[in-house]
Amino acid sequence: MGFFDQIGKQISQGVDRAKFEAEKFQTTTRLQGEVNEFRRQLDAKLGELGQRAYELQRAGQINSATLAELAQAVDQLRATVLAKEEELKSTQADVFVEPPPVVGPPPVHPAPSTYAAPAAPTPATPSQKLCTVCNFQMPFTAMFCPNCGTRVA
Ligand SMILES: [Zn+2]
Repeated sequence: MGFFDQIGKQISQGVDRAKFEAEKFQTTTRLQGEVNEFRRQLDAKLGELGQRAYELQRAGQINSATLAELAQAVDQLRATVLAKEEELKSTQADVFVEPPPVVGPPPVHPAPSTYAAPAAPTPATPSQKLCTVCNFQMPFTAMFCPNCGTRVA
């Protein structure tokens, strides 16, 4: 895998993360809307229950069947709100998980920030010398550079 392949992989992970965050935002927005909607329905049913109880009380006759039906609807909506709130909390707690590293030999290419320039030519030891033209290292006794042919003696 070359240097540009690694850049491509990093960009790909960035796209994955952006996609994850976008989908998370979309899901939490939808769930928040659903929670609000079920809360509204719950409030409506509670209002209806209260209104019905009020009317029955005013009429002096409690219709227990109607009250039981309303109470059941309220219980169902309360359970739905709780479940949706748990789902919302769970989604809000989601964190992006980096893809597992590719299994295989470690990359041999250096990262741009750690790229090392080619080592400078090793200074000639007393028994050797450098070509004045191409810096080729050769025995001190050489008359001509074995690399470029320049006379070095
Ligand atoms: Zn040379």
